[in-house]
Amino acid sequence: MVNGKPLVAKVEVPESAYRSTIPSVPDVVVVGAGIMGASISLELQRIGRSVLVVDRGGAVGAGSTSASSAVVRFNYSTLAGVTAAWESAHRWADWVGHLGHTSGADPLARFVTCPMLFFEPPGFPRAEATALLSAVGVPWEVLDETGLKQRFPAIDPGRYHPPRRPDDPRFDIGPFGRIDALLTPDSGFIDDPQLAAVNLMNAARHLGTEVRLRSEVVEVRRSGTNPDRTIGITLADGTQIDTTVVVNAAGPWSSGLNHLAGVFTGATDGVVANRPMRQEVHVVPAPEQFVLDGGGAMMSDLDLGYYARPQPGGTLLVGGVEPECDPLEWLDDPDATPANPTVECFEAQVWRLARRLPGLAIPHRPSGLAGVYDVTPDWVPIYDRTSLDGFYVAIGTSGNQFKNAPLVGQIMCEIIEACESGHDHDAQAVTTWCNRIDRPLDLAAFSRLRALTPTTGTVMG
Ligand SMILES: Cc1cc2nc3c(=O)[nH]c(=O)nc-3n(C[C@H](O)[C@H](O)[C@H](O)COP(=O)(O)OP(=O)(O)OC[C@H]3O[C@@H](n4cnc5c(N)ncnc54)[C@H](O)[C@@H]3O)c2cc1C
Repeated sequence: MVNGKPLVAKVEVPESAYRSTIPSVPDVVVVGAGIMGASISLELQRIGRSVLVVDRGGAVGAGSTSASSAVVRFNYSTLAGVTAAWESAHRWADWVGHLGHTSGADPLARFVTCPMLFFEPPGFPRAEATALLSAVGVPWEVLDETGLKQRFPAIDPGRYHPPRRPDDPRFDIGPFGRIDALLTPDSGFIDDPQLAAVNLMNAARHLGTEVRLRSEVVEVRRSGTNPDRTIGITLADGTQIDTTVVVNAAGPWSSGLNHLAGVFTGATDGVVANRPMRQEVHVVPAPEQFVLDGGGAMMSDLDLGYYARPQPGGTLLVGGVEPECDPLEWLDDPDATPANPTVECFEAQVWRLARRLPGLAIPHRPSGLAGVYDVTPDWVPIYDRTSLDGFYVAIGTSGNQFKNAPLVGQIMCEIIEACESGHDHDAQAVTTWCNRIDRPLDLAAFSRLRALTPTTGTVMG
């Protein structure tokens, strides 16, 4: 939407401006078959664009998507963040309706409802956060010590801030008073994030999308006559694929692809660059009183410095929320990092969780995984065009955008349609319509040219 009017209905895209005259040439090449690439492909294919997805890996959703904790929560620092998450939750809850096509035989990813407890650090602007939730219509309530003990008896409602490393002699001190928690009961998680990507891609394939796996993009080609326009890509085996639109949905590898395309090199693409960052998620047995559907909840704990979510089968996933005491593991190459969890990170995250859940039994050895985030300086994603005409990005997902994937396809589709028909999205950002919650979403929030957004400066966004 632009100026409150539906964009798709308004803009007529001339075929000549978009579709190649050679029928075998796809309208769009999407680089990356993760949750983002799959969602984008489905929405573009839905409006009749022919889509080719290329991925260097051997399976759909096998990149960072497969490592996702797939938490669906609503507490973001911005109206756009809350709106996107609330709209997307409705789409996850009606997954078959959102996909539009399932074969009947295919397994489907499932949205598992599980309440989310947010433990605030001191000074957290609670009134602003709850005002955003209320504005969008997300149900919430604040639980004090008594409420926490009644609803979640396994939880210690102490305040322990600041988070510390286990080797800090002050690690065990506290509590320093009691803490409230912000509860959003409609939160949850997707039980199999890779399967969700496969579901989206199968729906896109059903409409005609072609997927080429084990196909690495090594060049983004520019037109000889108009070097500001892309004309396609080259694969590692030398195959050249012509197209007028290329979408970078390459996850943690996306800054490398931007480099190949010669974008995000200076002021023309703003200051919001993205970089890969290593992250560990650990698995521990859940205390008896804190299992899924049996007294358990997801927790984002900025007081102690971890997040956790119950899993089917009686375990908990435990991840990080970038407390100041933990070093950030920036990577130059997303592939050059050990996939196994380390003892140091396991102890830091799990021991912090054990302070909130005194009944937690801590295993002797770490188990879990190491994944890679694609992080922007404000932890807000970039869904946008670039200074290279025809080259679009759905990047910088900052460890918090899996949940928004069902909407990101629509977001990218509307930006691409608008720009390819001559609309200046940089000057006047497109607004998309969230039809499940009946609200607009101003896509300026995800522009590469934005001033950095004030957020928590963590994966919470
Ligand atoms: C450990 C972890 C936990 C997370 N937890 C949550 C959470 O709880 N909630 C939430 O909302 N989000 C979470 N996230 C974030 C979310 O999972 C990601 O934002 C999302 O999965 C990214 O999807 P993607 O499709 O952009 O990237 P990916 O899934 O990484 O897909 C990118 C694809 O691009 C391909 N590719 C890369 N370069 C090339 C190339 N040159 N040529 C061809 N193909 C290429 C790769 O092979 C890959 O398959 C988490 C992420 C991680 C790592």
